[in-house]
Amino acid sequence: MIVILTGAGISRESGLPTFRGVDGLWEKARIEEVATSSALRRDPARVYRFCNAMRAAILSPGVAPNPAHYALARLQAEAAGEVVLVTQNIDDLHERAGSEEVLHMHGEGLKARCRRCGFVLCWEKDLFGSEDCPECKARKALRPHIVLFDEEPLYMGEIRRALDLCGLFVSIGTSGSVYPAAGFVSLVRARGVRTLELNLEPSLNRGAFSEAFYGPASEIVPKFVNRVLSGKHAPNSGKV
Ligand code: NAD
Repeated sequence: MIVILTGAGISRESGLPTFRGVDGLWEKARIEEVATSSALRRDPARVYRFCNAMRAAILSPGVAPNPAHYALARLQAEAAGEVVLVTQNIDDLHERAGSEEVLHMHGEGLKARCRRCGFVLCWEKDLFGSEDCPECKARKALRPHIVLFDEEPLYMGEIRRALDLCGLFVSIGTSGSVYPAAGFVSLVRARGVRTLELNLEPSLNRGAFSEAFYGPASEIVPKFVNRVLSGKHAPNSGKV
């Protein structure tokens, strides 16, 4: 089994700014201050505006999957063993490239969720907090299906099981600054498993990886996938 973790860097060449490249779209504010549950209580309109801007960015005409997203979809379809794709991204570019199973640990920008019953639905318009839940009919109950910075990420049970079983862990386009995702490499490395970083530049976690390749995701990810599919990047333990 291979576990792939992707971050904002894989979508940079698709036209979406990274976390560190915050400018314009993400408002002139620190993301941690705009996207927290305390901000949601204090100034909900600001958090909704921020999430609306992210949704609009994902839907803007020039934004489309790049060769890195397509290569990972091909890896999932053609690899001999299971490939678990975990993303910190809230965009839908992995799905648009053809990936069928994606664990969006930080939620999805194009979905809304009922605060009352937890119902999740596709949502492409602006959200204002005044919308009722179509399932349980609770009034003013819909919120963005995005994990705010002080909330528990999604799919942690599935992700921990995959980290326990994998024979290769690959981190792509993530700076290693957001936990718990930034801690996955150390958990896997403690079992002696190969850990690979693919990034534009060394991340904060560089020392925890057994190998690293640097360059734009659209170039280095397809090369990595070709190597795996031709048997040159076999995991060193666990089941393939
Ligand atoms: P980050 O912004 O902290 O780090 C991005 C990393 O990508 C950096 O290490 C940078 O060197 C690298 N990078 C930049 N351009 C690259 C390229 N062309 N090819 C390869 N690597 C490249 O991102 P993060 O670690 O994912 O953490 C940011 C948080 O913000 C996450 O929670 C994420 O969900 C969220 N976010 C999501 C999106 C999105 O959905 N597309 C965009 C911005 C932020």
